[in-house]
Amino acid sequence: MLTPMNSLLLTGGRVVDPANHFDSPADVLIIDGKISAVGKNLSAPNGVERFDAKGKIVCPGLIDLHVHLREPGQTAKENLATGTTAAARGGFTSVVCMPNTVPAIDTAGTVALIRERAAREGVVNVFVTGAITKNIAGEELAPVGGLKSAGVVAITDDGHCIQNNELMRHACQYAKMFDLPVMDHCQDYSLVTDGVMHEGYWSTVLGLRGWPSAAEEVIVARNILLAELTGAKIHCQHLSAAGSVALLREAKKRGVPISGEACPHHFVLTDAAVAGSEKFWNADGKVLAKFQGDELPEWPKYDTNCKMNPPLRSAKDREAILEGLADGTIEILCSDHAPHCDYEKEVEFDYAPFGITGLETELALSLMQLVQTKRLSLADLIAKFTVNPARLLNLSKGTLSAGADADVTVFDPDSEWIFRVEDSASKSKNSPFNGWKLKGKAVATMVAGKIVWSEKNELVSA
Ligand SMILES: [Zn+2]
Repeated sequence: MLTPMNSLLLTGGRVVDPANHFDSPADVLIIDGKISAVGKNLSAPNGVERFDAKGKIVCPGLIDLHVHLREPGQTAKENLATGTTAAARGGFTSVVCMPNTVPAIDTAGTVALIRERAAREGVVNVFVTGAITKNIAGEELAPVGGLKSAGVVAITDDGHCIQNNELMRHACQYAKMFDLPVMDHCQDYSLVTDGVMHEGYWSTVLGLRGWPSAAEEVIVARNILLAELTGAKIHCQHLSAAGSVALLREAKKRGVPISGEACPHHFVLTDAAVAGSEKFWNADGKVLAKFQGDELPEWPKYDTNCKMNPPLRSAKDREAILEGLADGTIEILCSDHAPHCDYEKEVEFDYAPFGITGLETELALSLMQLVQTKRLSLADLIAKFTVNPARLLNLSKGTLSAGADADVTVFDPDSEWIFRVEDSASKSKNSPFNGWKLKGKAVATMVAGKIVWSEKNELVSA
């Protein structure tokens, strides 16, 4: 008799599937790479292996819709194989890669190249976004229809922001016509100028050039108006500022097709982190210090792993992001995984590139800061990593419904571990969370019924 392929029975876990409002102890049966059934005391056909998920959470495979995989052109930082391996270790079965590569992903040919390479070398599913403007220069629209035909799931100039409002309006009109969401890195260049961190108390103390929250808020307001004008879905990326959350909350009440995402670094850290670990733990790190035990992780002043775009903001902004996540104003969590080589980051703060890695730490940091603090239920957190991004991008993912692709994440919400950059699967080591004690860890990641990563071998042959 043939052994069934990509088939598995996960037993005894707590199954949380927000798409189906399901949260209960149950088994999950996977047959031929698809979800066959979810329920109590399921039995499997002969030859199907069992996975003991007792004490673990079993949920739809997590989706990170904001990841920089650096292909083509910047493979010293990351490539499709290493980036997707990091994703699998972090519990992610699907990632959405950004088009600010070299060259930019702004033609159907480049989209095809990435999709082909991802199918061959990717450990998890890779969905591709296309640039809004040619070479992400903000001047001339990229061929949006051609990008759509080539399979992009959204358009974005991430890393950059279209400053010309009329051009952005046209982009929205095309996106609407082709039923693509527009994802925007919200930033007004005239207010950002050559800032390297958040403009506030710490930029003054440290003598670094700052840029204000208003630089983000102005563009969030612009996007709300354009979403209303054109009917296009605009998604505001990596929100960092309190005013952005307030604007979004009000607009969503009016039914404007606008949405937002937040990244752990913006709701865990603050600009005090740029002044060094001691200042951070004493000023804004008290809640998180409790997870760390006796030894608090240390980092120096001007640590370039605290330099990202948008920047770490004030404690007030961080609180607003947390509130926005709690009340549903911000419906998506993601990493903005942005790998950079050591030699690029090991320079003065002013000269370092923006960005940090995040795929392997985002689940734990989100659990710690949102669920363990009781701001968010576990099901709501999982929704922000599964069904919500799937709906925004029209992906047939993010659910354990019968017949769906068997992308499944198994994680232990109570597992305590220390994140060490040297153990990371990413090619780059630029994380501010090196040495942090984290709580919550993926133990197995399954893509179409195949275990692509697991902490240890939990399989029991039937
Ligand atoms: Zn960005």
